[in-house]
Amino acid sequence: MTATDDLTAQGVAWDLEPLLPAPSDEGLDALLDAAGELASQLEGTRGRVAALDGPGLAEFMRNLAEVHDLVGRAASYAGLDFATDTTDPVRGARMQRIEERATAIGTRLLFFDLEWAELPDEQVEGLLADPELEFARHHLRSARRYRPHLLTEPEEVILNEKSVTGRSAFERLFEEQVSALEVQLDGETVPLETALARLHVPDRDARRTAAESITHGLQPGLRTRAFVLNTLMADKATDDRLRHYGSWIANRNLSNEASDESVQALVDAVQRRYDIPQRWYALKARLLGLDRIADYDRMASVADVDAEVGWHAAQELVLDAYASFSGELADTAQHFFNGSWIDAPTRPGKRPGAFCAYTVPSHHPYLLLNWTAHRRDVLTLAHELGHGLHAYLARPQGIFHQTTPLTLAETASVFGETVTFGRLLEQVNDPQERLALLASNLEDQIATVFRQIAMNRFEDAIHTARRQEGELSVERFGELWAASQTAMLGEAVEVTDGYRTWWSYIPHFIGTPGYVYAYAYGQLLALSVYAQYEARGPEFVPQYLDLLRAGGSMAPEDLGKLVDVDLADPQFWDRGLDIIERRLDETIAAAEAAGRV
Ligand SMILES: [Zn+2]
Repeated sequence: MTATDDLTAQGVAWDLEPLLPAPSDEGLDALLDAAGELASQLEGTRGRVAALDGPGLAEFMRNLAEVHDLVGRAASYAGLDFATDTTDPVRGARMQRIEERATAIGTRLLFFDLEWAELPDEQVEGLLADPELEFARHHLRSARRYRPHLLTEPEEVILNEKSVTGRSAFERLFEEQVSALEVQLDGETVPLETALARLHVPDRDARRTAAESITHGLQPGLRTRAFVLNTLMADKATDDRLRHYGSWIANRNLSNEASDESVQALVDAVQRRYDIPQRWYALKARLLGLDRIADYDRMASVADVDAEVGWHAAQELVLDAYASFSGELADTAQHFFNGSWIDAPTRPGKRPGAFCAYTVPSHHPYLLLNWTAHRRDVLTLAHELGHGLHAYLARPQGIFHQTTPLTLAETASVFGETVTFGRLLEQVNDPQERLALLASNLEDQIATVFRQIAMNRFEDAIHTARRQEGELSVERFGELWAASQTAMLGEAVEVTDGYRTWWSYIPHFIGTPGYVYAYAYGQLLALSVYAQYEARGPEFVPQYLDLLRAGGSMAPEDLGKLVDVDLADPQFWDRGLDIIERRLDETIAAAEAAGRV
């Protein structure tokens, strides 16, 4: 690997073939044929779920897990392969084909959820007492929480089948539109992701130019993207009405196993502390030598130089950080680098951002990055690796219990990122660099907690407005976006007119409405967990690993108890927020020590 290749992480790519029993389409069809046959057998239980005894139910669930595994392999392959080049029509058509076949199989098995939901509580508890059902117990119990919101089987079948050409199709249209966005920068055409990375550079003119180019680049297709969002919000409103959900967020909270009250308490607590980002951005203006910063200055590096980090140095640093905490985690993390489980370079048409795909417990997770060799990319790597380790350690839980609810999904990622950050900070003695590092961490906290809650307020505003006012114009979206951002940024930051369209590339609003508060939830939870590690040291590590291994096998409050965290405590959110405020104070002190204010 040359020095340039190391900076671009050239050649760090996935090997997806092990997901399949045979190459490409042949392997995909083999998986889905097998899943289809097994589904046919399971259909024999239709109308007889109430008659199953404990061992019978366990047998049914083992086969159902196998169907999920086969379908999950095929869907993971098609989806990940598509993510590497979303502009390739062959990959797109393949993913669509797999999704259609997977949906057809899922539709045939819908009867189980509906019949299961119909059973009386007493019978359910009797069945779940069977020790053979441990691998599915929490899943089966919590599946019944949707009981009041389920429709009749024929209705569910129609909604499920029509979703392929309805919601899913609109989601894909949005994804393709966003991936096709291009920005003109320095006379070159670059992907949106590359232009967004430019907002971190120290030179203000370069940032302003980049922001203006991004605003310009967001124009093509803006009305189409607004239409897609309008359509999906209306679709959701219909769904929520038919299923008797009291608010736009109620369904998300239920799927997170979080009460409406606890989520509202989180949102209120974060909004009450909006002074934290405002104090930071006021200080940042002084650090940048400005009276007041603008939206495009928020991510500016406060360092004079933005050092580039090579892929190998990043790998070493992150593994070292994980090793400082747990040798077992570091050893497991090594597999991700050696086994082609990471796709790192930026490429035209590749899905932007970063994510971890759990795939299925009989395989291993994959990480997607868009490596641009900035220091924050190291923390992104540590973050996604945290997700990957969580997924990997929870594999023995099986397909029903591997995945945590969204609100706990960020725990391991934030934890790993925090450990890596601590490692980075230890290595830095220069006061300017120390300031830069603390500032960038503080800004990550602000982005994860305050920005996500501001985005949650935007979602709240648009879903409410869509239900009350009908279809929203691009201008109305812009108004509500600016208002939600200004509420958080206060007088400290100028929100420019150009910024009003920047909601229009964010995939969460489309694919997983209501998702974003989970970042704040997970961050504040993870910070509290990390604070315990700081206070108790190595003796805490086994408890933490138990939490990761538990995956989603318990309710969130019970998972919290594994690491002595009480999610029902109304003061809980403020504890995490206090930690962020302390980080702000440290950063202010570092700015003074560096002679910058
Ligand atoms: Zn994450």
